[in-house]
Amino acid sequence: MASHTHKVDASQYCAQCKLGWHGRISCAEFRNLSKDERSREDILLMELARNRGWRRCPNCKIFVEKIDGCSHVSCRCGCQFNY
Ligand SMILES: [Zn+2]
Ligand SMILES: [Zn+2]
Repeated sequence: MASHTHKVDASQYCAQCKLGWHGRISCAEFRNLSKDERSREDILLMELARNRGWRRCPNCKIFVEKIDGCSHVSCRCGCQFNY
């Protein structure tokens, strides 16, 4: 089997940036992601986070749920950041 028989599903690629599938994440946002954050799971998690209003810890990159009425978030890694 020759390796060039591998087919790419067109629906898995963004028509605009052609970098890959990135769901509803914008092309610019997707470009800013590092290579290891571009998996389908990561994109889906990012979409979920957006829908739920989660914020991402700038230190350890996990998503942290906002507590109502507070704009200050503490991550389990000890990092604190503002919403
Ligand atoms: Zn795109
Ligand atoms: Zn953290």
